[in-house]
Amino acid sequence: MIVVGGGFAGSMVAKYIRLSSGGNVAVTLVDPSPSHVSCVLSNLVLNGRMQLSERTIAHSKLGPYGAQNVQGQVTSIDPAARSVTVTLNDSTTTKLTGDRLILAMGIGFGAVPGWDPVKTTTIPHAWIAGQQTAILRDQLRALPAGGIFVMTVPKKPYRCPPGPYERACLVADIMKRKGGGKVVVLDASSGIQAEADTFNRAFTGIYKGIVSNIPNAALVSVDAASRKVNTSLGLSFAGGVVNMLPPHQAPDAVMKSGLVPTGKFWAPVDPLTYESTLFPGVHVIGDTQATEQPKSAHMANSQAKVCADAIVRLWQGFDPLADLDRTANITTNSACYSPITYSEASWLTANFAYGLAKDGKTYQMNPVQVGEAEKWDGENFEDMFTWASNLFTDSFT
Ligand SMILES: Cc1cc2nc3c(=O)[nH]c(=O)nc-3n(C[C@H](O)[C@H](O)[C@H](O)COP(=O)(O)OP(=O)(O)OC[C@H]3O[C@@H](n4cnc5c(N)ncnc54)[C@H](O)[C@@H]3O)c2cc1C
Repeated sequence: MIVVGGGFAGSMVAKYIRLSSGGNVAVTLVDPSPSHVSCVLSNLVLNGRMQLSERTIAHSKLGPYGAQNVQGQVTSIDPAARSVTVTLNDSTTTKLTGDRLILAMGIGFGAVPGWDPVKTTTIPHAWIAGQQTAILRDQLRALPAGGIFVMTVPKKPYRCPPGPYERACLVADIMKRKGGGKVVVLDASSGIQAEADTFNRAFTGIYKGIVSNIPNAALVSVDAASRKVNTSLGLSFAGGVVNMLPPHQAPDAVMKSGLVPTGKFWAPVDPLTYESTLFPGVHVIGDTQATEQPKSAHMANSQAKVCADAIVRLWQGFDPLADLDRTANITTNSACYSPITYSEASWLTANFAYGLAKDGKTYQMNPVQVGEAEKWDGENFEDMFTWASNLFTDSFT
């Protein structure tokens, strides 16, 4: 098996295929980096509560399970041949072909006039953690009291539904400590997309006078030199720091592979196996796939287990789609913790089960239980580290 991407979904599927096949299915894991820098809790790097090194975990920790690591960037995907072209870190190129191809490559971004996704140092997104997080952290450190922070929130589906509002809260907290400032949230949607009550209370309560939350303000274009974004409201907003979250979509190589239908942005899959509905033998898990489950690390981990289970059953000669006990019991879950201040957090969970869609004919993952914290507090903040530690240990070690 070839697994592309060693984040939450890719590392987990590699580990579980090795574990549940008794080490008999060979797995090659391709990722350009020797370690994964996690977005989860990365907003705490911005306010200095954590270091980037604390959010970084080496792929070699999966070594004991016997997955082979290849360090390189997949530049193209041939889904019909189940092969990928990889530029290795020594700049040579190789082609890898598997019985099955598992794509777990996270997200890419849509085009924004005036914005160069490769040279994003002036206006960082910091929505793929690593260098981008460090750039935004440093810009925030340099922003003086009274400074203006502008951020854009794309339309759903995007990675981590509460994440942008969580970031707005933490930046407001930073500015409050500096002695004041403004946080302007330009939201492409008509309202807050997750934990609306919590974030509304924070914006109009502890961050009153700092946060301006502006709905229906979709990003139209950007002027990097003057740190200015232009919105669908016809209004432009300039800031000392501009944090632009562009529209999300599957990564470039996936968009160009034929795995995403024209006019769509994510790869459609059967949620019983995460096999592409367009190309047999190719599985897509985590943020890249098109089921309407939240794009979260917890969810990526959950999907990876369903996918690994199906693949090992297929390898053993069973049909996971014909196993009625299995199909009736496919569930996934998601959890996001949101720091609201330097030492307090809220949370959001959602559980999904395989079942009939509203049309009464097709099947999908349906939300069966959704919950959120009644308030943000220090206890949730402490629980957040326990939850994250469990998720990291399960996914990467
Ligand atoms: C600020 C913030 C806070 C968040 N908080 C939470 C939270 O509280 N809870 C939660 O569950 N989720 C949270 N998330 C969301 C979570 O980080 C993502 O949903 C999760 O990382 C998705 O996992 P993935 O495996 O699909 O992608 P990723 O974890 O991004 O992994 C993708 C991997 O693919 C590799 N890759 C990409 N392109 C290529 C290529 N061409 N060739 C080879 N390899 C490639 C990358 O190097 C990377 O290692 C948060 C996100 C952000 C931005």
